[in-house]
Amino acid sequence: MNYKIVNIRTSAKVDPKDSVLIIYTGGTFGMAFDKDGSLAPFNFGRVIEMIPELKGLELRLTVISFPEARDSANIQHTDWDNIAYIIYENYTQYDGFVILHGTDTMAYTASALSYMLKNLNKPVILTGAQIPIGYIRSDARENLLTALEIATAKQNGHPIVNEVCIYFNLVLLRGNRSSKIRSSTFAAFQTKNYPVLAESGINIEYNHSFMATHNPDAKIKIVRGFDENVVILKVFPSISEAVVKAILNTKGLQGVVLETFGSGNTMNFPWFLKLIERALKKDIIIYNVSQCSGGEVLQGRYETSKRLKELGVLGGGDITTEAAITKMMFLLGTEKNKSLVRKKLIKPLNGEMDE
Ligand code: ASP
Repeated sequence: MNYKIVNIRTSAKVDPKDSVLIIYTGGTFGMAFDKDGSLAPFNFGRVIEMIPELKGLELRLTVISFPEARDSANIQHTDWDNIAYIIYENYTQYDGFVILHGTDTMAYTASALSYMLKNLNKPVILTGAQIPIGYIRSDARENLLTALEIATAKQNGHPIVNEVCIYFNLVLLRGNRSSKIRSSTFAAFQTKNYPVLAESGINIEYNHSFMATHNPDAKIKIVRGFDENVVILKVFPSISEAVVKAILNTKGLQGVVLETFGSGNTMNFPWFLKLIERALKKDIIIYNVSQCSGGEVLQGRYETSKRLKELGVLGGGDITTEAAITKMMFLLGTEKNKSLVRKKLIKPLNGEMDE
C-alpha cells in the first residue's frame, strides 16, 4: 500500500525526549460533509491544519496515513494486518502508537491487534471522534491530545500502558474488552465486564492493578492471519429453522459465534439442537457468547444451555462479541490444529476474558 508519511514539525528541540507514531486510518475524526450532505473522510494533511496544538507539543511526531482515509465500516482484516505490521516495523523507534480510527469498528480492530501483537510493552492507543475535527464542538482534539499524552506516559522509566487500548471521552479502556455502545453521545465506548484503565481529569488517574504489566525482557512478535469463514449467529425468539440451517450449511464455514440469551441460553427445540449437533460433527467450532452487554456465559446453569455444553459448544465466559469473532478468525487463521483452537478459545489469549 502507498502510505503517506508526514513528519510533523513541532516546537520541540532537535531531539525531543518522547516520540509517537500516529497511524491515520480515517473515521469521523477527519471527515467533512460532501456535496450531498453525507460525511466522507478526507486526508490527514488537512487534519493537521485543524489541530495547531500539535505543533506546540514537545514530541517527535510522525503520521503514517492510509492511502485513502476510510470509514471504519470498510475496515477489513487485511487492514489489521497492515496496522500491526506498521507498529511492528516501527516498534523500537517510538515510545508509543496512536491509531486514529472510525468508532464503528474500533473495538474489532483493537481486539484483533491485541491478539496479533505478542509481548507488547508499549502503548497502542486507538482513538477517534464523534464530531469531525473541523467543528467547534468536536471531541477530536481532546481525544487525540490526551491519547498522545497517554502514549508517552512513563513511570520509573517504563511505559505505564503496555497493551492495546481505546481512549475516548476521558476514559482509557482495554481494547479487547470494549464495545461501541452509543452513536449519538460522546461517551461511545464501554467495557461492561472490566474496569476503566484510566480516567482523564485535571490529571490522568491510572488504575494500575487492572493494567497489563511491563515486562522489559519480552520481545515483540507479530502473528498474522485471519480466517473469514466465520459467522455471528444471533438467536431471537422465533428464529426459523430455514435460516439457522442456511447459515450452518454455509460452504466452508469453520466457526460460529453464537450470540445467546442471558447466561448462554438458546431455544432447546429438537430441530435447533439437531442443527447445532450436525454443525459440530462437521468440525465447525461453535463459541457461545451472551447478547447481554454485561455478565457471562455459564453453560449448564439452565436447562436451555445444558445440552449445548454436552454437544461440545464452547463457552465464551465474559468475552464481548467483537473480541470473540476476531479471536475466532485469528485462531482459525493462525493455528492449524483445531483442538488447539478450541482450547485457546476458552482461555484468555490476552486479557479479553476472565480465566
Ligand atoms: N462511520 C464512522 C466510522 O466508523 C463513525 C465514526 O468514526 O465515529 O468511520
